[in-house]
Amino acid sequence: MNRSRKIVVLCHCLLNSNVKVHPLATYPGALTQIWTRFASVGVGLFQLPCPETSFLGLSRWGMTSEQYDCPAFHRHCRRILEPCMDQLVALYRDGCALVGLIGVDGSPNCGMFRTCTGYRGGEISSESTDVSGQVGMLSSVSSRGIFMREVLAMLEERNISIPLLAVDEEAPDNLKTS
Ligand code: SF4
Repeated sequence: MNRSRKIVVLCHCLLNSNVKVHPLATYPGALTQIWTRFASVGVGLFQLPCPETSFLGLSRWGMTSEQYDCPAFHRHCRRILEPCMDQLVALYRDGCALVGLIGVDGSPNCGMFRTCTGYRGGEISSESTDVSGQVGMLSSVSSRGIFMREVLAMLEERNISIPLLAVDEEAPDNLKTS
């Protein structure tokens, strides 16, 4: 029996950058540092779904966490996570160790230790909206993204604990732990 019974749980774009808001991808497909770090030592890669792509598609704008913080989007996160949780529970009961849950810091949804805030939204062609002024309101804050909050809540509801990690794409060689 060759299976390692070790799994790392990853945000979707760490293995497929094509889901990112245009033009944010900094690597062409999978993030090599993640692939080599875990797959090379026999850890299975469990890829979570991308909540933004399944909610708004690939012509979506870049948004901030409070813009996603509405009941329908929280329900969407839970809906797409249900089958993932079923699989994780099955793996957990089969003796698999969940060695980490890796977020993407800075993301409004997958930020583990940092997320982004500040946009008010509005009609982009309206002068009163001042879209360029909103860019200056964008800030990085110590908080979790919306999707990550739901991931952690659903794991807790199932009594599954897991070490928390995050990729900072500006320094992807080191995984953050806080
Ligand atoms: S929502 Fe998450 S998985 Fe989707 S592109 Fe953003 S960080 Fe990646």
